[in-house]
Amino acid sequence: MHDQHNDHRRLGRELGLFDTDPLIGAGLPYWLPDGATVRHTLEEYIRAAERRAGYRHVYSPVLGKRELYEISGHWAHYSDDMFPPMDLGGEQVVLRPSLCPHHALIYRSRSHSYRELPLRMAELGGMYRSELSGVLGGLTRVRAIQLNDAHIFCTLDQVAEEARGALDMIRRAYEALGITPARLRLSLPGPGGKYVAAPEKWQRSTALLTEVLDRSGLPYEAAEGEAAFYGPKIDVQVVDAAGRESTLSTVQVDFHQPEQFDLHYIGPDGRRHRPVMVHRSIIGSVERAVAHLVEQHGGAFPAWLAPTQLAILPISDAELPNAAALARRCAEQGLRAEIAGPEHGSLGARVRDARLVPYQAVIGAREAAADHVALRLRDGRRLDPLPAGDVLTRIGALVSAHSTELWADSAA
Ligand SMILES: [Zn+2]
Repeated sequence: MHDQHNDHRRLGRELGLFDTDPLIGAGLPYWLPDGATVRHTLEEYIRAAERRAGYRHVYSPVLGKRELYEISGHWAHYSDDMFPPMDLGGEQVVLRPSLCPHHALIYRSRSHSYRELPLRMAELGGMYRSELSGVLGGLTRVRAIQLNDAHIFCTLDQVAEEARGALDMIRRAYEALGITPARLRLSLPGPGGKYVAAPEKWQRSTALLTEVLDRSGLPYEAAEGEAAFYGPKIDVQVVDAAGRESTLSTVQVDFHQPEQFDLHYIGPDGRRHRPVMVHRSIIGSVERAVAHLVEQHGGAFPAWLAPTQLAILPISDAELPNAAALARRCAEQGLRAEIAGPEHGSLGARVRDARLVPYQAVIGAREAAADHVALRLRDGRRLDPLPAGDVLTRIGALVSAHSTELWADSAA
C-alpha cells in the first residue's frame, strides 16, 4: 500500500493541495483552495469532537517573551529547535515552540475551584520550529506548524480517566479518517537527553501512563529517549510512504509546568492545591496529519474530507441546465460539487479525470427528464438511476456521520 508513488509531496502538487515558493522560504508551504478545504474540514471535525468531549477553545498569540520560555523550561531544554529571539525595544520576543506556556498563563489568570476540574482547554494554534536540515518541501518537515493541541488541568485522581478519554478520541478520529496506527509507544527519557531533573515526578507520571496503556488492552512498546523534556508520553506512531515512522498523536502527563507557573486550584478543604497538566493532541499538527492522509489514501480521501465530493457529468450540452441545478442543490446542502461538462471530453475521459472523487452523478436525457441521476461510486460500483434528492440526502447522511463507507445499502 505504501510506496514512493504515494509521496505526499508529489501528490500534493498534482492534486493542487499545497505548494511552496522559494521567495516565501523552505519549510513554509502555502495551501491551495482544495488543500485548504481538506484542512478546514479536518479542523472543524476536531473542534466539534473537542466540544462534544467538554473542551473549551481559546486563541493565544504565536509570540511570547523569552522570559516565558525560561520559566517553562523550553529555553534551557529546547532552544536548539527555537527561532532566535527578536529584539523589540529592549525586550526579547520569541516565536513560540509550543502552546503549553500560553495555556498555563490563561489558566493562571483566573482562580479555579476543584469543582471546575478537569478543565479542558483546546486550541488549533500556530507554533514554530527552526528546522535547518532534512527534506523540506513537503508538509512533514515544516518551520510553521498548526498544532491540534489541548491541556487538561486536573487533579492527580483524574489523570488516568482524562488520558483514557484522549486515547478514545484518537481511536474515533482514526476510524473517521481511515488511518491505521503502526503502534503505540510509551516514550521515556533516555541517556544524554535534555530533561528536567525530578526523578519522583518522572516515576509517578510514567506509572500513570503505564497503567492507562495496560488497562486499554492495546499493545505498546516502551522506547527510551523519546520523552518530552518535561515528562513521559504515549505516542501514536504512523508510517509514511517511504516507510519512515513518525508520531501523529500524543498524550502526556506533566508535573513540571504546573510547578514552574505556580498553578493552583482551591480544594474542598479551602486550601490551594497544585493541578496536573495532561497535554494531548488527537491528530498532531495539521500539516503532518494531511501529509499522512494524502499518502494513506493516495488522494482518495473519505467522502466527508474530499475537496470535491460529487462530480456532475452531463452527457451532452442539453443536460447542462440540470447539472447546474443539481450543483446549486449540493451547495445549499453543504456538499462540494463540480460540473465537468462535455467540453472536458468524452464521458469516459471525464469519469477517469474524476477517479478520486467519491461520487460521480451522470445525467443523460432520460435522467434529466425524471430529475434522476445515474450514480457511480469511486470504488467502481454503478447504481441504477435514483431521484436526485434521494441521492443528495443519502450522501449528506454519510458525510455528516464522517463515514468511510461510500454507500449504505439499507433501504432508508
Ligand atoms: Zn503542551
